[in-house]
Amino acid sequence: MKGLPLLTTSAGAVSRLSLDIGVRTRPGLSAPVWAKVEVEADLAEITFSDVAKVYPDGTRAVSNFDLDISDGEFVVLVGPSGCGKTTALRMVAGLETVTEGEILIGGRVVNNLPPKDRDVAMVFQSYALYPHMSVFDNMAFGLKLRKLPSAEIRARVERAARLLGLDEFLDRKPRALSGGQRQRVAMGRAIVREPQAFLMDEPLSNLDAKLRVQMRAEISALQRDLGTTTVYVTHDQIEAMTMGDRVAVIRKGLLEQTAPPQELYERPTNLFVAGFIGSPSMNFLLATPRSGPVVGVDLGKTQLPVHDNELARALEAYEGREIVLGIRPEDLEEASLAEGGRPTLSGMVRVRELLGAEVIVHVEIEARPAVTEDVRELAADAGEEETLARKAGAATATIVARLSPRTSAKPGERIDLAVDTSSLHAFDTKTGSSIRGGTP
Ligand code: ATP
Repeated sequence: MKGLPLLTTSAGAVSRLSLDIGVRTRPGLSAPVWAKVEVEADLAEITFSDVAKVYPDGTRAVSNFDLDISDGEFVVLVGPSGCGKTTALRMVAGLETVTEGEILIGGRVVNNLPPKDRDVAMVFQSYALYPHMSVFDNMAFGLKLRKLPSAEIRARVERAARLLGLDEFLDRKPRALSGGQRQRVAMGRAIVREPQAFLMDEPLSNLDAKLRVQMRAEISALQRDLGTTTVYVTHDQIEAMTMGDRVAVIRKGLLEQTAPPQELYERPTNLFVAGFIGSPSMNFLLATPRSGPVVGVDLGKTQLPVHDNELARALEAYEGREIVLGIRPEDLEEASLAEGGRPTLSGMVRVRELLGAEVIVHVEIEARPAVTEDVRELAADAGEEETLARKAGAATATIVARLSPRTSAKPGERIDLAVDTSSLHAFDTKTGSSIRGGTP
């Protein structure tokens, strides 16, 4: 058929699309003439279908893992240390075998395909650069192994180097590069392969804080430009939230929630996700829902109305039963600096941390801290188990608030914190599930 765009494919998994196209010879009158058109396109979706991984020593690292990653999507796997995210990524790369279920790349089951035939490129935390080779040779190495013509290799390496701002460094050895430049070489080595997917395992964790911020913006922009399907592993929730089209939160080998970053933040499916996403973390207090003209929660000495109709309706089913109330630090403000009329929590300032654009204060209030299994696990990941152990059963709770830099809060002085009661979260004490819209 004349004029139809030609779709070319590169090596790797290819998906066949079948389109039925109807053409009317006289608009509105004649019956359409139908033609079947088959096109082959490189659609690099990655699918985990009920995948599990059990290591030879019996460790179950990943269980019941179902995830569909679309062509061109940037998905971040995030979770505490040891949750199984690296194992999940390595199974896609073919560096670990799959114990149960199937992994598909571009619609093709790859469980038994060797890594070199999967058309994916991995970027490791260690960069794994060859110290004795120049930047050019490091980037060209994989292509030489594949016996690509040298003109093609040069063109690809130079193109990637331009993209990454490495043109001037092609003759240098890795030891003469900064951490950020080495990281870019590792990215370059993946880019030159023009793979169907990038698999990145904590690629920024060896960089200092400032460089991480810069590099995460660079990787995001690069991925958008290249449009290559990317799976990115990190335990840093800020990286996950700023980089991913979608973020998959993993805990003990299980997928807890997969959603765009804003949805994870606003509608966490359970207490674990709520506590893991957001910095500083959400505050968790024990509370009892009370019905009335305005549904509220009783914190002991204080009551807070719930100005969120959906949550208020869901809380009615829990009336009189203990729940875990979640308040994000950014939903608290010093009362004198907040909009008038907001309900308040009062307490004693224990710690004040000035961060420039905001002030983080730790305030001791008369309410009971929620110390559930989920909260313990989150504290363990943050290295705060001992602090949490002291809190269990206490009559006061220390909550963290993110205040305007104009705050006059001082350690040892009392403060009234206005609460944005339209943004409260509530969780079932036993299951940890979000109560919003759920059933008790
Ligand atoms: P981290 O962020 O610390 O790298 P992770 O989420 O990437 O953690 P994995 O490395 O996937 O976690 O490990 C998941 C679980 O599997 C952990 O309990 C780990 O100890 C275990 N594990 C990993 N590799 C092996 C192995 N080769 N043999 C046995 N157990 C393993």
